Amino acid sequence: MNNESFFYYLSNPYIKMFLGITFVSVIAFFIGYILKIHEKDKKEIKILRNALEDSKRELSKRYADLEKIHEIVKAIHSTLSVKELSNVVRDILEKVLNLDLYSFMVFDNIRKEFVFQTGRNLSTGTTNKILLEIKEQHPFWLKESKDFVVTKEIKTEDTGGPSYLTCLLFQTHKKMIGALCVTPESLKKITREDEEILIVVAAQVAIAIENAMLFELTKKLSIIDEQTNLFNHRYFQKRLVQELERTKRYNRPLSFIMADIDGFKSYNDKFGHTHGDIVISEVANIIVSNCREIDIVARYGGEEFAIILPETDIDGARIVAEKLHKAVLNHKFLGERERRDQKVSLSFGVASYPKQALSASKLIKTADEALGQAKKEGRNKVFVVN
Ligand code: GH3
Ligand code: MG
Ligand code: MG
Repeated sequence: MNNESFFYYLSNPYIKMFLGITFVSVIAFFIGYILKIHEKDKKEIKILRNALEDSKRELSKRYADLEKIHEIVKAIHSTLSVKELSNVVRDILEKVLNLDLYSFMVFDNIRKEFVFQTGRNLSTGTTNKILLEIKEQHPFWLKESKDFVVTKEIKTEDTGGPSYLTCLLFQTHKKMIGALCVTPESLKKITREDEEILIVVAAQVAIAIENAMLFELTKKLSIIDEQTNLFNHRYFQKRLVQELERTKRYNRPLSFIMADIDGFKSYNDKFGHTHGDIVISEVANIIVSNCREIDIVARYGGEEFAIILPETDIDGARIVAEKLHKAVLNHKFLGERERRDQKVSLSFGVASYPKQALSASKLIKTADEALGQAKKEGRNKVFVVN
């Protein structure tokens, strides 16, 4: 086709119309296509925006959860007292996790049993049943699991409370730390997020309890004589000064007894130091069990004991010393027969505030002199300064 014939065809109105319609259709198709793509993009953008909004919400929630956990962890580690720690745990269980029925226990590694710390809406009967059951099953649970939290069901029937409880047992380094018992229903109500909080809290509580127990044990060991379980000399000195101050403030009497095992050197020589140690522990027990709760019994030194008697005058103190004297004489010491019925006896020196002494050091000196006098007069007796 040459140029001339091409223009000829173009000048034809039908062909013109046909070409015009085709052109408009193609343009319309492209515009439609572009608009469709745009519509699709808009939808995708909307989806993406929604997803972004969701992530933002999720992130803010996570942030809030983390902040909550951070606050809880801070509170948990703010104390080294098991009692205060239990209060923190109580707040978390009630205010954060909204548990309406629970029992929280800590495992005493010395007595090898669970000790109730805090609880809500559980009867004493149910609590005792839980303690009994977990005590009986505890070694099995501990051996069985390497996990940090072990879950066990406990039947609590016949105690008037719920018939089943789920107990979460916390342990670290294969050591039992504590337990939280709740009804299975309330455990189910805990959301996934709160479950995460619970696990973090449990881990932190376990560590904090272990630290608090170690701290309390260290504190206890620093004032207790390990051999006799009596207060040690250092604590006794501090306590005597404190008790005297209180006595003076309220104008009350206070007495002090110094006791010493008679002829203990020869006892050791005859029967050995190990037997001697046992005798010292037995004497300590006799003294404690014959004194009142408020009396302070300490190991003064080797085979010497110091007893502070608050609210007791000299006559009362004489009665206590004589009671202790008799109790030791009447006691059947371990293996006494093998030791040819060798008797164990104590000598006592008694002094009182304000009658014989006004200061702690004078009180100790006076009681010690009275003890010396008892020894001088043949031992195995009570000497009271008048
Ligand atoms: P006295 O009647 O004058 O008190 O005579 P005594 O032999 O008891 O007194 P002395 O002060 O001469 O000796 C005290 C003895 O107590 C010597 C020491 O070996 C013994 N003793 C002190 N502490 C302990 C202890 O922890 N275990 C044992 N087995 N013996 C101890
Ligand atoms: Mg002595
Ligand atoms: Mg002695």
